[in-house]
Amino acid sequence: MLKIGITGGIGSGKTTVSSIFEVLGIPVYYADVEAKKILNEDDSIIASIKKIFGEESYINHQLNNKYIASIVFTDPNKLNLLNQIVHPATISHANEWMNKQLSPYCIKEAALIFESESQKNLDYVIGVWAQEEIRIKRIIKRDHLSKEDVLKRINNQMNEELKMKNCAFVIHNNEIEMLTTQVIELHEKLLSMSLLT
Ligand code: ATP
Repeated sequence: MLKIGITGGIGSGKTTVSSIFEVLGIPVYYADVEAKKILNEDDSIIASIKKIFGEESYINHQLNNKYIASIVFTDPNKLNLLNQIVHPATISHANEWMNKQLSPYCIKEAALIFESESQKNLDYVIGVWAQEEIRIKRIIKRDHLSKEDVLKRINNQMNEELKMKNCAFVIHNNEIEMLTTQVIELHEKLLSMSLLT
């Protein structure tokens, strides 16, 4: 079974593309969703977070996102420590999940694939690409953020061109190109590639 990653910048359409693969019957692991669950449910992870960020990192057994974000946003060392806890836990959880799947291929959708070096556990990575201007418009509309806040998030992420160069396949998700057609074509390609493994 092939293990496929889907990545791309904020607002590129990773989740939208992944949901089309799901409609085609392909199981998808959403790394952000699972990471949030791990942070709220895994006792050893909770203990590590409290050790670094203090007891106030959890309120009623739920991660205090606002508090953690306020620290890591201004302290790169603390962000690094947080990533060192969350990334390995999510990567091994995703690997366990992928090893249980029975389809010709399965997908892990994650914003940070190359940044967390999780491409090492994947056969191929698909990049979802959209022009920055379009991504900004989508995020303003979806998350009700200001343009400045969206730009801050974009500038905190890996350079988009570099990210796409590292991908085996790129799906263009500007409004003009037909998204479903591209996904179906890639799906067929991946199905035939899976027969060769
Ligand atoms: P994030 O990294 O923030 O989680 P993402 O890459 O997963 O974002 P999506 O959540 O799939 O991106 O898309 C961002 C927003 O843009 C959503 O509201 C989605 O409905 C919208 N969107 C995505 N693709 C298109 C498209 N081709 N046409 C119109 N709207 C789109």
